[in-house]
Amino acid sequence: MKTDSSATTELILSGLGVSGGIAIGPTYVVETGAAQVPEYRIAPEAIDAERRRFSDSVAKARRQIKSLKTKALVLPEAASEEIGFLLDAHLAMLTNSRLTRGVERRIRDERQNAEAAIQAEIAVIAHSFQEMDDAYLAARIADVREVGARLIRNLMDREYQAFSMLRPGVVVIAEELTPAETALLDPSIVAGIATVMGGAEGHTAIMARALGIPAVLGVHGLMPGTRSGDGVIVDGRNGKVIVNPTEITLAYYRTAQLTLVQEREQLKGLRSLPAITLDGTPIALMANLELPREIETAREAGAHGVGLFRTEFMFMNREDLPGEDEQYALLRTVIEGMPDKVVTARTLDLGGDKLAGALDERFLSTANPALGLRAVRLSQREPKLLEVQLAAMLRASAHGPIRILLPLITTVAEVWWVRDMLTDVARRLKRNGVAIADPLPPLGIMIEVPGAALTADALAACADFLAIGTNDLTQYTLAIDRSDEQVAHLYDPLHPAVLRLIQFSTQAALRARIPISVCGEIAGDPRFTALLLGLGVRELSMTPNKLALVKRRIRGLDLRSATRRAQSIMDQSDSARIAELLDEFNESEL
Ligand code: PEP
Ligand code: MG
Repeated sequence: MKTDSSATTELILSGLGVSGGIAIGPTYVVETGAAQVPEYRIAPEAIDAERRRFSDSVAKARRQIKSLKTKALVLPEAASEEIGFLLDAHLAMLTNSRLTRGVERRIRDERQNAEAAIQAEIAVIAHSFQEMDDAYLAARIADVREVGARLIRNLMDREYQAFSMLRPGVVVIAEELTPAETALLDPSIVAGIATVMGGAEGHTAIMARALGIPAVLGVHGLMPGTRSGDGVIVDGRNGKVIVNPTEITLAYYRTAQLTLVQEREQLKGLRSLPAITLDGTPIALMANLELPREIETAREAGAHGVGLFRTEFMFMNREDLPGEDEQYALLRTVIEGMPDKVVTARTLDLGGDKLAGALDERFLSTANPALGLRAVRLSQREPKLLEVQLAAMLRASAHGPIRILLPLITTVAEVWWVRDMLTDVARRLKRNGVAIADPLPPLGIMIEVPGAALTADALAACADFLAIGTNDLTQYTLAIDRSDEQVAHLYDPLHPAVLRLIQFSTQAALRARIPISVCGEIAGDPRFTALLLGLGVRELSMTPNKLALVKRRIRGLDLRSATRRAQSIMDQSDSARIAELLDEFNESEL
C-alpha cells in the first residue's frame, strides 16, 4: 500500500455506510466491459494451438447451450419453445458461421489471440447489423454479443471466477457490484468494498453485511479517478472512503480499527447469555442466512434458529438450475448445522435486483423489475421451479424442524395455490416411500407488500406464521427503490406509514395466535429493537453478525417502558419526531 503522501493527494469521499467496520488496504479496481479481454499477437508457431483453444471454447459453448435447452424443457410449453428457438439461434452462430469463420481468419492471418479476435469480429458484425437499419436485426445484436461473451468466458476460464485471483487484504472498488458478484467475495481475502452505485438496503448491501466485509456504496467521485494499488480506507460505520490517505489519517483509522476489534471481543461474552428483557420476557433471536457458510457464525452467535434462509443465492453464479437433490443436500446441511433448531427456508425470491444466469435475464428483465415477475409471481409463472424446491424442502424436513416461507405474497389465493402444491408434492413423495415430516412443515408468508400488510388478518387466517420483510415493505410503501443510491436519503423505515403497517400486521398475527417475526434489516439494528418489541414483536431475525448487539440492547430494555414509548411514537405523524423520540428513549436507557 502506498504511504508516500507527498506524491498523492488525500481524497475524502462520502457514500452510504452499509456494512460496519474499517478496511485499510490497497485497492483492486474492477474494470468493466471490454477492458478485461486480453489482447496480444501470437507467435506464428502458436497459431494452431490458438485455433484449438478457440475450437475448444466453441465446443464447450455448444455443450453449455444444449444443457440449457434440456433444462428449458421443464418450463411451460410457450416459454420452453421460445427459449428453445433462442438457444437454437445461438447454436447456429457457433456452427461455421460468419462469427466462427471471422475469428478463425483473425487468428490465422492477423495472429490475434482468440479473445481479442472474438471481440473484434463481434464489433464488426454488430456494426454491419446496425447499418442495415432493420429492427429485427438490431435485436439480434444482443444475441451475437451474448454468444461472444460466452466464448470469451470459456476461453478465459472465467466462469464466475472474477475475484478468485485477488491478493489478501485488498479493497474492491467498482462502479457497481451485483448481489451475485458480492456473494463471490471471500471475506478472508477482501478487506472492504466501495462502489459508485447501490442503496443501503439492496441485496448487495445485505450480502456485504452477511459476509462481514466493511462496505460503502453510492460513493460519487470514486471512479474513474481511483487506480488499482492506490491506498484506501473504507469506513463502513460513517460512509467514508479515503483514497491515498495521509499518514495522520492512517494512524487515526488504525487506532479506530483496534477499538472495533476490542468491542467485538467484548460482545462475544454475550453469546451464551439469554436474550431476555429486564422484566423477564424472552425474545427469539434468529439468523438470516444468505449463504450456507454462515451457519457457523449463526451457531457461534447463539441464534435460536434460522428465521430466513434466502435460497435464491443457490441459483446465482451458474448457468444451470440446481436440481431437487442438490437443493435437498444443501438444506439438509443447514438443518443439520442447527441441530434441534428451526430453519425457515424461503422459496425462490428471484427478480428485482437478484438475477440468476439460468433464468435468462431477458426472461426476467422488465421496465420495473421490483414490480414485475419477482418471487412467488415467478413461481406461479414457472410452477416447476417451485415444485422442485418444495420437494427438496419436504425431503429436508425429515432431518429436523423446517418452516417454509413464501416471499412477496399479496393475495390469499397465492397462499392457497402454494398450499395445494405442497400437499400434492407431499402426497407424491409419500407414495414413493420418501421420508418427510408428519405433520407437514408450517407454511408462512412474508409481509412485504403494503397490500399484504393491510390484509394481514385475512392472510393470517391461511398462513401458519408471518415474517415482516421491512426492507421491501419500506420500499413499496414509500415508493423508494431500496438499491438506488439517488433516493437512499428518502428510504425511511421510521415513516409512520411503515410503522402502522408493522403494527397492523403484528396485531393481526397476535389475534390469530400465529407467530410473527421481523426479518428485514431493521431487526438487526439495536436502534429499532425497543420500538419493534414495544409494538408486540417477540421474534427478530438478522444477519448473525448483529445478534450480539441486539441481544445487548434487549438485556438492557424494560419492556413496559418500551411499549409506552412505542405507543407515543405511533401517535406521531412526522418521522423526524419519531426518530427523536426513539433515539431519546434509547439514550435514556444506556
Ligand atoms: C425484506 O424485504 O425485508 C426481506 C427480508 O427480504 P429481502 O431483503 O430478501 O427482499
Ligand atoms: Mg423482501
